[in-house]
Amino acid sequence: MTRSSRRRFLKQSALAAAATLAARPARAFADAPDPAAPDPSSPVHSRAPLMPGAFTLLPLGSITPAGWLRRQLEIQANGLSGHLDETWADVGPNSGWLGGTGESWERGPYFLDGLIPLAWQLDDARLKAKAQRFLDWTLTHQQPNGMIGPASNDDWWPRIVMLKALAQYHEVSADPRVLPLMDRYFRHQLSALPARPLRDWGKFRWQDEALSVLWLYNRTGDAYLLDLARLLHQQGHDWIAEYANFQYTRQITAEFIKLNEGGGLKDLALATHGVNNGQALKTGAVWSLVSGSPVDRNATAHMLAELDRWHGLPNGMFSCDEHLSGRDPSQGSELCTVVESMFSLEQALAITGNPALGDRLEKLAFNALPGTFTDDMWAHQYNQEPNQVECSLHHKPWVSDGPESNLYGLEPNFGCCTANFHQGWPKFTASLFMLSGSSDGDAGLAAAAYAPCEVRTRIRGTAVQIVEETDYPFRGSIRFTINPAAPVAFPLSLRIPAWAQPADGNVSLKVNGRPESAPAPGSFAHVHRTWRTGDTVELKLPLTPRITRWFNDSAAIERGPLVFSYGIGESWVKLRDRGMTADWQVFPRTQWNYALDVHPESAASSIKVTASEIGAIPFSREKPAITVSVPARKLPAWLAEDGVAAAPPQSPVATASAAETITLIPYAAAKLRITAFPIAKS
Ligand SMILES: [Zn+2]
Repeated sequence: MTRSSRRRFLKQSALAAAATLAARPARAFADAPDPAAPDPSSPVHSRAPLMPGAFTLLPLGSITPAGWLRRQLEIQANGLSGHLDETWADVGPNSGWLGGTGESWERGPYFLDGLIPLAWQLDDARLKAKAQRFLDWTLTHQQPNGMIGPASNDDWWPRIVMLKALAQYHEVSADPRVLPLMDRYFRHQLSALPARPLRDWGKFRWQDEALSVLWLYNRTGDAYLLDLARLLHQQGHDWIAEYANFQYTRQITAEFIKLNEGGGLKDLALATHGVNNGQALKTGAVWSLVSGSPVDRNATAHMLAELDRWHGLPNGMFSCDEHLSGRDPSQGSELCTVVESMFSLEQALAITGNPALGDRLEKLAFNALPGTFTDDMWAHQYNQEPNQVECSLHHKPWVSDGPESNLYGLEPNFGCCTANFHQGWPKFTASLFMLSGSSDGDAGLAAAAYAPCEVRTRIRGTAVQIVEETDYPFRGSIRFTINPAAPVAFPLSLRIPAWAQPADGNVSLKVNGRPESAPAPGSFAHVHRTWRTGDTVELKLPLTPRITRWFNDSAAIERGPLVFSYGIGESWVKLRDRGMTADWQVFPRTQWNYALDVHPESAASSIKVTASEIGAIPFSREKPAITVSVPARKLPAWLAEDGVAAAPPQSPVATASAAETITLIPYAAAKLRITAFPIAKS
């Protein structure tokens, strides 16, 4: 199929799927549970002596996507995620994780870690069957000593990923094989680690295994699991110390990390590696459950602040191509780092209850994540750039990545992202609501991030359904309908983003149509009441355009969680076919070198917002759901060299060019884009 015909096909199939969904009768609510089976839908609280988190993630399957978010997940299921095993040998029938002789390291577990939530959130039998083959092989091939996975490879690291996948699977299935398998594996690891300690990737990603160890501890209460968590912490890299005295404040060069000196991966390279740092964002929060330390609990916010200061980009990411790379918006961020940072933020938000982490999570989910895929999710980049004026084989400014890194394709540069990206949207969906409180007695629900969905869970023993209807982030109003099986009292907590400042118009909160006092930005608003079926809560967030400042005092336009970009004219040129998909270069067809002609302090008055229908493809370039127009002037001196835009010159800049108005579209819609603009001298 050609690119455009596949797009048309996908558009039609997405519409057909939406029609099927509308016609399907609503699932029976509060189905009678089997009293013999553990109820995987019941949230599991933190068990002493662990320090409770502010929130607890609900079991997978509690939240189902609706509206535009469901369409996005359907696109993913119809794209590479739903077909990867059919076209990419590394997760195909000869995978080591299916008993074959093929790839036997991280790629099978990576794929599964995103395929499981995608399959069960969409209740898609075809995808569930694909996941089940991998799960059954691991569950039936545990070695007598407790080791899991392909025998040809004993690295701890890929098992860390598999454990995350197994925990998710247990939450949707209550499969009685899962907990005993994890228990035997962890007992084996506790005895084996002293002689065969964590090394390279496992050493720098130990906190992701600690999550699974604590997940099992909360279910079984076996004290040896806390010993294992402490041993992982002891053998693992000390991320909290790295960031307490952060030294990596410049672009990391190949010479600095001794990349070409041989001898394998050096700790210096691993400590400055983008994906490792994205995974590390959760470290302090996760470890605080064991240590009880408030300093640890605050470490995620501190790490984000350091990354923003030295490596921050306007799409919410830090540069990592693939080591930390400074603030120039022509540097890249790897897709693995986007989805791993999102997962870290989801976990850290649950543990800390810090609403700023929800703001950042939404920024990544609505900009950096969709911006690095084609609309049909059949092709992705390894590296994306905020100022991305060409995606080609020309020389690129990456520290250590290859020349194909920002092509859109099957596995540009390296296949890790191809295997790992699947978790992005599904885990975001699974994090929209969280359980608040530390026990059944004080339990409530918290809306941690916003998107259309439905949640079903039990609060204080009562089945509760909440329907969230919204076109957020494209629109600012969010409506919740609360349907408990019987009247039940609990707090409903709503995240009020820090960007919803009173200067932009107050946040409005209504319960059953009656206004509540305006909640403060950068906090959680709490509504305490006895909820009855049909109760409604309406939240309106003011979405006023604002200017944020970046490298060389450049400016980006943001509105709520969306970042806006100038969409450069795109010419897509196929480089080669790749099985069911293809690799593409993208060349600019129009000029892009504009300076914004705005006053940063009065941006709102000079920026005009136009809302349109949200189409079958939510982040579509052809039909963007929202656009902004802004005064600008050409800046002829700002050029690209070899397909890379020069850094935006220090603002303000002088330009004699005529005043124009340019239209910006959502960052994710523009595959060639300018996001960080110089500001014209007035
Ligand atoms: Zn990757």
